[in-house]
Amino acid sequence: MTGKEIREKFLKFFEARGHRILPSASLIPTNDPSLLWTAAGMVPFKPYFTGAAKPEVRRVTTCQKCLRTPDIESVGRTARHHTFFEMLGNFSFGDYFKEKAIPWAWEFTTRVLGLPEEKLWISIYLDDDEAFDIWHREVGVPAERIVRMGKDTNFWEIGVGPCGPCSEIYVDLGEERGCGSAGCGVGCDCDRYLEIWNLVFIQFFRDEAGNYTPLASKGIDTGMGLERVASVLQGVPSNFDTDLFREIMDFTAGLAGVKYGGDSKTDMALKVIADHCRAVTFAISDGALPSNEGRGYVLRRLLRRAVRFGRVLGLHEPFLYQVAGAVIKQMGGAYPELPANQGHVLKIIRSEEERFGETLAQGTEILNRLVQEARAAGSTVIRGEDAFRLYDTYGFPLELTREMAAEEGLTVDEEAFARAMEEQRERARRARQETEYLSERDAFYQVLRDKLGETRFVGYDTLEARGK
Ligand code: ATP
Ligand code: MG
Ligand code: MG
Ligand code: MG
Repeated sequence: MTGKEIREKFLKFFEARGHRILPSASLIPTNDPSLLWTAAGMVPFKPYFTGAAKPEVRRVTTCQKCLRTPDIESVGRTARHHTFFEMLGNFSFGDYFKEKAIPWAWEFTTRVLGLPEEKLWISIYLDDDEAFDIWHREVGVPAERIVRMGKDTNFWEIGVGPCGPCSEIYVDLGEERGCGSAGCGVGCDCDRYLEIWNLVFIQFFRDEAGNYTPLASKGIDTGMGLERVASVLQGVPSNFDTDLFREIMDFTAGLAGVKYGGDSKTDMALKVIADHCRAVTFAISDGALPSNEGRGYVLRRLLRRAVRFGRVLGLHEPFLYQVAGAVIKQMGGAYPELPANQGHVLKIIRSEEERFGETLAQGTEILNRLVQEARAAGSTVIRGEDAFRLYDTYGFPLELTREMAAEEGLTVDEEAFARAMEEQRERARRARQETEYLSERDAFYQVLRDKLGETRFVGYDTLEARGK
């Protein structure tokens, strides 16, 4: 089953059960300054769960674009993590609850996707006996394959507001994929038990004092990772080997004249580039722009990290914008906004690549020298001031310096970096009376500059000439 087929089957399945299919919302949350990115399918529906808004319909299903930068370090290291991924979900706003959500999830997984029942494991929250009974008595999952897990993984809450226990579906991919440790089981970080679907049962309200009171109107929020499901159905070792990724990685491999599947360093680079390029392409298409703050900084960081991994493959000229073309070709059918924004997206990526390309080589050279100096002095730490100079002058996001230093077994003095950053901010504040919209304004002028090129101020001459 291709990624496209899984997407369609999921939405159709829930449509047939009374859900309205809605298009994916933007990666940039609207009316929610507390979030940088849409990181889950429920984000656009938060007001329906909190009661701040009334939904038009009470059953909805989506395939939502998601971005999770906290997972950035896992990309290419685990078989299952991306920064950008697609989350399939079904939602009930005060309509059905566990009694329907659980059997439907099982029906879709076993009947529609056809996954073998004996390979499926279930996690539930510690004391959620209601969920246990439905899984065991109604659905028929043997008790020994239902695992009770704690608050860190199986309870969803964000401070004050609606919250509740979760239940997850895992696929046992076989002993050969496991870490072999005695405690390996559901929830282990290795690749054996793959979490594919999370069902959140929104049934409590948590108040300021930390009390949980049952909600009169309960809700369902589920999320299934499309790339993970595709990897299972296509019988491949990782998300990156699915049809959703292979074309993109093959395209990059073609550019670099390398092959995927031979060397682990090359493979890692191909995976990171494909992942980050998807993230960057979708984020820019949804309106984000590289900058030095907030969302724009995350974007810049992803983009520059991808460019650096390009160097591992011997790609020294701007290349990422071309990979973005491959992403748009692969994903444009499902997300028509991509081809619509193609010109803009490629232009922004290319100009950012050019800007960074000029300083990457110099910055790398300086970092190598810093590493040598630190070693010679018997230290394992890169000074924060130096890391800040790499950031400020050479456009190295701190995370990039940290990662490159770590490859050499060194750390970065991040407190000193933060101090240097703060001092510079203070200087800038005093000098320009920074407004809170500065980053947007910077980004705006950057776009203008990308469009028009550098401009030269000729006001003095021209005005004088006219005045005479
Ligand atoms: P994991 O424990 O594997 O990190 P999670 O518990 O953080 O996953 P959830 O927040 O429950 O994930 O998200 C719902 C579903 O979205 C997951 O079951 C998984 O299928 C998918 N998913 C989550 N994070 C990622 C990611 N970084 N890349 C790809 N798919 C993901
Ligand atoms: Mg996670
Ligand atoms: Mg998990
Ligand atoms: Mg989960």
